[in-house]
Amino acid sequence: MRTYKSDVVVIGGGLAGICAALELLDAGKSVTILDRDGEENFGGLAKESFGGIFVVGSREQKRNGIEDSPAQALADWCAFAEFGAADHWPRRWAEAYTGRCHDEVYLWLKANGIGFFPVPHWVERGLHVRGNSVPRFHIVWGTGRELALQLIARLRNHTNAAKLAVHFGHRVEGFTTLMGEISGCSGALEDGGEPFEAFGEAIVVASGGINGGDLAKVRQHWHADWRTPPQTILNGSHRFADGRLHDAVGRAGGNLTHLDRMWDYAAGVRHWQPRKPNHGLSVVPPRSALWVDWRGRRFAPPLVTGFDTRDLVTQVCATERQYSWQILNRRIALKELAISGAEFNPSIRDRKRLAFLRDLLFGNRWLVDTLIDNCEDVVVADTLPALVAKMNALQGDNAVDLEALGEAVSRYDAQVALGPDRFEDEQLKRLALLRQWKGDRIRTCNFQK
Ligand SMILES: Cc1cc2nc3c(=O)[nH]c(=O)nc-3n(C[C@H](O)[C@H](O)[C@H](O)COP(=O)(O)OP(=O)(O)OC[C@H]3O[C@@H](n4cnc5c(N)ncnc54)[C@H](O)[C@@H]3O)c2cc1C
Repeated sequence: MRTYKSDVVVIGGGLAGICAALELLDAGKSVTILDRDGEENFGGLAKESFGGIFVVGSREQKRNGIEDSPAQALADWCAFAEFGAADHWPRRWAEAYTGRCHDEVYLWLKANGIGFFPVPHWVERGLHVRGNSVPRFHIVWGTGRELALQLIARLRNHTNAAKLAVHFGHRVEGFTTLMGEISGCSGALEDGGEPFEAFGEAIVVASGGINGGDLAKVRQHWHADWRTPPQTILNGSHRFADGRLHDAVGRAGGNLTHLDRMWDYAAGVRHWQPRKPNHGLSVVPPRSALWVDWRGRRFAPPLVTGFDTRDLVTQVCATERQYSWQILNRRIALKELAISGAEFNPSIRDRKRLAFLRDLLFGNRWLVDTLIDNCEDVVVADTLPALVAKMNALQGDNAVDLEALGEAVSRYDAQVALGPDRFEDEQLKRLALLRQWKGDRIRTCNFQK
């Protein structure tokens, strides 16, 4: 049996584990990081992520004339968090984060070599209740991949690096106790199954969420607002974030809460080169697309991204088949179609300014053509009847109603033709609102038929 000893054991080498280890090294503690994955995946899911970070009072906000404060951010947070009477710690977290994120996240990251986009994004503006009243989503120049690489480098080069041990291929399965207290954790090597134990004064569990693995936990904790879990759920999470250690924490007497408050998206397509079961890509839904249900009927009220992501999931899950379609032309696709994460944003990931500007100004041809050529969930045609035929072929029946879809398209196009002063269509009104913010204007078509 392999045995490790240090002041603190950190389970998981994603961003959470890395940040915990950095703080511990700063405090002069010895640290053991244990991770199931291989060294090439050190950094966890962040390496695949987009790298948007909620910050209050940043220089980027000030440069863009955005007035923000911790009190305003906290008021926004409390409005959409729907805190219950028992939510003491979530409320404390909201207070701590809004009050401290400028110095302890934003300035700390900047001091560690992280740069941000000059214009913050305005996400989750709120729909039924108030959301973010100003743009606060700051995109890391280099995506989450750069974030992970910079923090790993800082860990490796830390003045106390001699006090750090990182062991990959180590799957933790449970905790050990001594006199009724947690004294360590135990598990087995992924390769060969040799058992190990690790002991410390404290054990930090940073093994990710519950949305990975075989999605059993996602189905188990599916939020009541979303009816029953859909037949097919795509997965963008870490393949080892399977909730195994959540169960172990529960067995050890830990308090597990809010497992149904998971972050899911309404729009995803299948990855054509999957690296995990049901590997999905998170589509940033084009705002100028017509969002229709499995029968080709437009949602009413229309669905538009940027306001309330949870509500989009609620609306799609309320339909019989719990999936949807987005209807768009090539012009909309070039300007608005995006896939979240590092993999499909190479100009941002690799920090290529010219390529990024080219995509912004002339449209992301590479992405659109890659999706058309490879993704089985993307269908294209020159006419609406031909498109509907392809949609139905993909669904395996004739559920998409050409007449209903044709009518929705004609009505919308007629509204566009009226011009902004006479819009009655809710989607067009929302597009007009979004386009008032320059960060959205540059990524949203000017009322496209
Ligand atoms: C496409 C995409 C875009 C995203 N964009 C954003 C964004 O813009 N902004 C944002 O805030 N978030 C974003 N995210 C989410 C973000 O990447 C994650 O929330 C974050 O990286 C999670 O970090 P973590 O350290 O908590 O967990 P993870 O990165 O999942 O790390 C957990 C680690 O624990 C290890 N582990 C698990 N179980 C065990 C075990 N039993 N024993 C040992 N080790 C174990 C795993 O191998 C893994 O290395 C995005 C995610 C994706 C996929």
